[in-house]
Amino acid sequence: MSDSFNALVARKDDSYACAYETLTLDDLDAGDVTVAVEYSTLNFKDGLAISGAAPIAQRHPLVLGIDYAGTVLESTHAGFTAGDRVVMNGYGASEYLHGGYAERARVSGDLLVKVPESISNAQAMAIGTAGYTAMLSVMALQKNGPAPGDGPILVTGAAGGVGTVAISLLADLGYEVIGSTGRAQESEFLLGLGATGILDRAELSDKGKPLQKERWAGVIDCVGSHTLANAIAQTRYDGVVTACGLAQGADLPSTVMPFILRNVRLQGVDSVQAPMSRRLTAWDRLAKELDLSKLEALSFDLPFSEVLSRAPEILAGNIRGRAVVDLS
Ligand code: NDP
Repeated sequence: MSDSFNALVARKDDSYACAYETLTLDDLDAGDVTVAVEYSTLNFKDGLAISGAAPIAQRHPLVLGIDYAGTVLESTHAGFTAGDRVVMNGYGASEYLHGGYAERARVSGDLLVKVPESISNAQAMAIGTAGYTAMLSVMALQKNGPAPGDGPILVTGAAGGVGTVAISLLADLGYEVIGSTGRAQESEFLLGLGATGILDRAELSDKGKPLQKERWAGVIDCVGSHTLANAIAQTRYDGVVTACGLAQGADLPSTVMPFILRNVRLQGVDSVQAPMSRRLTAWDRLAKELDLSKLEALSFDLPFSEVLSRAPEILAGNIRGRAVVDLS
């Protein structure tokens, strides 16, 4: 490859716009590791950044793409040498650092994780930030939370990137998992991942009572708003609810009643600034616990040239599972 490479760049002059551009290494951030990016993904947050629906990109021009996997080309960082396979999740990529929608990235090695041996770079991005967030959510749920056999776990946004991986992980850990989805046509797919039941998301979408019939030993919520409020209101005594997303909305129209009368615990999940030790645990557990054969069913290839045009689909909730972007 010549010095120049293809990238999807956000600019804000008179107005905000994204376009494919040709960059050189001089356009990249300072950093002690240069990576040949092989794969990235299309996440909900990428959809927000590309559309400008939320102010994700905080400096301009900026290479978008919140995650990537690739191979180290050059490194002066003690932890990495040329040829190492690495993954980057969040840590400001596509916000204030150049991200993964480019064939090259340069970054501090302090922000990179080595891809576990048993996972290919393509698989690392089939897992991607969504799968890594799903594992962070499972870890948060398990911390003093329900054990398999304690009762059903509700996963909202079930057919999305986080939801599909969360269902797969929880089912393989032995939990009874109920997936809440608005896409009835995906029910068979979700049952195939290990869900034991499907709930129509419409049952959770509207304002509900502060305390409802106790149903869930735990919840992994990707949706926020009324869905999260209803899920909390339906959580059993001592149950744990994790909140990572805002696909329905960023609001939380709830009351304190489930917390003060049922001892329910609400645990936030952030992948972007998660400390390195938690990232390493999450990727190690993904390597050991995620059934990679299911990854093929829950991911599909998205040509880099189509990222821009297909971004609105993820905001509309029309992307099933994980979109893997091939930049190799
Ligand atoms: P996806 O778009 O792949 O999945 C989101 C799912 O939410 C959709 O598939 C849909 O599921 C459901 N959904 C969409 N709109 C609505 C709605 N109006 N009401 C109810 N449900 C809805 O996104 P990801 O799985 O990648 O991410 C899920 C959420 O987690 C996003 O909000 C994302 O921003 C957030 N996130 C947060 C991270 C963090 O660090 N905290 C990291 C990664 C993601 P279905 O079709 O099954 O109903």
